[in-house]
Amino acid sequence: MDLKQYVTIVQDWPKPGVIFKDITTLMDNGAAYKYATDQIVEYARDKQIDLVVGPEARGFIIGCPVAYSLEVGFAPVRKEGKLPRETIKVEYGLEYGTDVLTIHKDAIKPGQRVLITDDLLATGGTIEATIKLVEELGGIVAGIAFLIELTDLDGKDKLDGYDVLTLMSF
Ligand code: IMP
Repeated sequence: MDLKQYVTIVQDWPKPGVIFKDITTLMDNGAAYKYATDQIVEYARDKQIDLVVGPEARGFIIGCPVAYSLEVGFAPVRKEGKLPRETIKVEYGLEYGTDVLTIHKDAIKPGQRVLITDDLLATGGTIEATIKLVEELGGIVAGIAFLIELTDLDGKDKLDGYDVLTLMSF
């Protein structure tokens, strides 16, 4: 299946000059959403994954059906102030300024093999921060899966040495 036909390109959103890749049109097509999920499940199948971890919010949309299919749990990575119990946090750079991502301190047990999921790899800042959280809790990043990679932004350079799957490149 050619998944690219289900991604909608939105010019100048969220601000002028940005070409946004909207995956909601992929998700609301049952066959396309299932196909994309199945591709990631197949990639992860032989990696002895114990847990799927994804950053809010689109990392949940990709990661939860994969976790269900692999019959493992899912742990959310969220912006600061959203998780109710004790967390660890990491600050990461944005185009302008910084942001913070958090995870519950007991979400991952040391030695657990983790699959990280998100919808899209741009500069790699979000995924790099997510990797740091997983590794700080003693998790092993056994795989990282995205629907989309924006190749111009060289986000993959930040993922050297990790096992990465991307289903589409733009
Ligand atoms: P990065 O941290 O620069 O790699 O940006 C990736 C994050 O920004 C992901 O969590 C994406 O959900 C979001 N993002 C950036 N650009 C797009 C886009 O064009 N479509 C959907 N999400 C995007």
